[in-house]
Amino acid sequence: MILIKQPAYLTPYLQKLRSENKRIGFVPTMGALHRGHLALMEMAKKETETVVVSIFVNPTQFTNAQDFKHYPVTLEKDIEALLSVGCHLLFLPGTPAMYPPAHSEKKYEIGPIENRLEGFYRPGHFQGVCQAVDKLLAIIQPQKLFMGQKDYQQCLVIDQLLQVTGRKSKVELIIAKTVREMDGLAMSSRNLRLTETQRQNAPLIYSTLLFIKQNLHNYPLEELKLKAFTQLQQAGFLVDYVEIADAKDLSSASQKNKPLVALIAASLDSVRLIDNLPLN
Ligand code: AMP
Repeated sequence: MILIKQPAYLTPYLQKLRSENKRIGFVPTMGALHRGHLALMEMAKKETETVVVSIFVNPTQFTNAQDFKHYPVTLEKDIEALLSVGCHLLFLPGTPAMYPPAHSEKKYEIGPIENRLEGFYRPGHFQGVCQAVDKLLAIIQPQKLFMGQKDYQQCLVIDQLLQVTGRKSKVELIIAKTVREMDGLAMSSRNLRLTETQRQNAPLIYSTLLFIKQNLHNYPLEELKLKAFTQLQQAGFLVDYVEIADAKDLSSASQKNKPLVALIAASLDSVRLIDNLPLN
């Protein structure tokens, strides 16, 4: 595996691969890698000849300074994990390489999805995600981009980003299923920050999503959301939202006769967790 920190060194290396007709599969991450990330890389390895992974804890997508400060960094373990799955190239840019001093940031017109759910609770988050992903795509120019359904709204945002930046015809977005722990908890780098008791409590998010799916036709939508919300609150979660939304644009659902997804964001102390489940 090759490790490159500077875009200037990466570009000629990738150009050579492209001239040899080797397709590039790209997996952007913020590190603290777990099996969810590795599943994306395995997928990229099956579908392309070169797997490029980036690790960059992107400051512009954090809306909470403490969350950024405490975001887990486990680089040595990450490198071992990348070697174990046969990643070809790790791109590890520093903040100055991604955001050179005196740079001016673009504003991406990604439509109403930007301010729904995660966008509402973390204003500016998706502009930050778009800034980092657009820069990485410009540098790496992959044929395929691999992302996780765990971040359902982020996948919709990136699809929109590809459209508005004219990249959609050049890069295919491939979305991988959420990888879970045995007890249902969606794997997440933030799980490392849970105490033992919180870790035992955390799978309730997934059980609540299953409860919503199982009871979709037993209650009106508002009542079902309230039951789910109360269940989490009573177990000690600070709940940002329990939503049942249109699977395509995440507008709040008022009918059940179209593809829906249930989404939850809830915190245990300062650890904020998100998860989702397609319903029909
Ligand atoms: P992150 O490092 O959290 O920015 O995530 C990097 C990529 O891994 C994103 O596309 C995530 O959606 C994806 N990802 C994170 N957790 C999981 C999971 N449990 N299962 C599948 N993909 C995941």
